[in-house]
Amino acid sequence: MQYESTRGAIRGMTSAQAILQGLAEDGGLFVPQSFPHINQEEIEALTKESYPQRASFILKKYLTDYTNEEISACAQLAYHPARFDDPDIAPLKKLTDSEFVLELWHGPTIAFKDMALQILPRLLPLAVQKTGEKDQILILVATSGDTGKAALDGFCNVAGTRIAVFYPQEGVSQAQKMQMVTQSGQNVHVVAVKGNFDDAQNGVKRIFVDEGIQTEIKQKGYRFSSANSINWGRLVPQIAYYFSAYADLLKQKAIQAGEKINFVVPTGNFGNILAGYYAMRMGLPVNKFICASNCNNVLTDFFQKQVYDKNRPFFKTASPSMDILISSNLERLLYEMSGRNGEKVSAWMKKLKQEGKYEIDEKYGEWLREFFYAGFADEEATKQIVKETFEKYGYVMDPHTAVGQAVYERYVSETADKTVAVLVSTASPYKFCKDVVGALEPIQETVDEFELAKRLHVLSGLVIPKAITELEGKPVLHQAVCTPEMMMDELRNFL
Ligand SMILES: *Cc1c(COP(=O)(O)O)cnc(C)c1O
Repeated sequence: MQYESTRGAIRGMTSAQAILQGLAEDGGLFVPQSFPHINQEEIEALTKESYPQRASFILKKYLTDYTNEEISACAQLAYHPARFDDPDIAPLKKLTDSEFVLELWHGPTIAFKDMALQILPRLLPLAVQKTGEKDQILILVATSGDTGKAALDGFCNVAGTRIAVFYPQEGVSQAQKMQMVTQSGQNVHVVAVKGNFDDAQNGVKRIFVDEGIQTEIKQKGYRFSSANSINWGRLVPQIAYYFSAYADLLKQKAIQAGEKINFVVPTGNFGNILAGYYAMRMGLPVNKFICASNCNNVLTDFFQKQVYDKNRPFFKTASPSMDILISSNLERLLYEMSGRNGEKVSAWMKKLKQEGKYEIDEKYGEWLREFFYAGFADEEATKQIVKETFEKYGYVMDPHTAVGQAVYERYVSETADKTVAVLVSTASPYKFCKDVVGALEPIQETVDEFELAKRLHVLSGLVIPKAITELEGKPVLHQAVCTPEMMMDELRNFL
């Protein structure tokens, strides 16, 4: 399988090259040149397999320059019971006869980013070997909260790599912040940015394309790579859990072989839902993807009105990992939508950069709405859904997942669509104790994260994950703060 850039100027790369580079040199994102097909028998065969086997099956279709043994070994080590606190890795829980929850937060940092970031740090050193790269890999991450810790955990002390994480100073939850600033490891650096996630992400993108700093780090024996979802190595492992969820529905006899289902995905940078779309292109029977946003509803407007406009107020919400106005991975969908037209994609992205806005043809709107439904939930609706879902089903969801649930309920009441749906749950409620407990009962402002976790345990009966208990009393190791303009200097300090 070869990879090409969404901006059309680069083709014929191997998966190792795509994973190593992160971003294509023309500023585009790497995509596979085609989608391998998986047939119904193969999907049914997945019902008998473990999660690492399912993931290997998908990865082998795309990472054809890796050996089968390499891929299986990476998957076995990444999705290991020592790293995940559920033997199914990505368990599918039943909410009603027609709605299931795919829990993607049983990994070490209790958010779905672990599904990719436990395996990427194993794939990347192999990519270095395969490409004959001599330099050390310097991974730059902009995080809206969860990617940072998941990348730090994955890359901590991985030989031949260093990692710098930039997070918005006021834009992450208390637990998210504590997880990052207490990260140990020889090769890690964590910096708070005075700004929001988009500022941090733009800063990282600027560094990636700055020739001056490229030369500087080259002289020091480094080259850049990315652990953000723009990296193909982040996306491809995510395709696997869409197949896994479908196989589990078959296994639980909730659907017939070949039956189409809906997926509901709380969305920010559009990586998660895009992996689902790729799964569908590979043959997974899907009716609709329900794209759920919070008040930062730039995607909702885009899917409904064909205008992508980031010139709007930025809201800080209880679902910070979705507080994003520039959804990077949408570019990959635009590429498919335009019939793989790199010129068109480049023109839209140029407008987005210059004017913060672009518009697509009505005909593309129809194309998008054939497979996607988009909606958003405001803060009040999200809080309300956390409470209602708990009261109705005894199930506690985090605010990101609750945004998905709120949009899904609206979708069902609007369309009366009875298709079996899988709600993709992206974080453990323990990562957002304040908002979750606060939605269930009145809380005092002064009560700390650990007290809230204990309270959530009493209310939900869910075991408090190690990711939370281990934070108590852990020393803060990272206190650096910078402006978006100073990010490059911060990086120099680190080196
Ligand atoms: C990253 C994240 C999202 C958004 O996922 P995208 O792939 O960026 O769309 C949603 N929920 C949580 C908890 C996340 O960490």
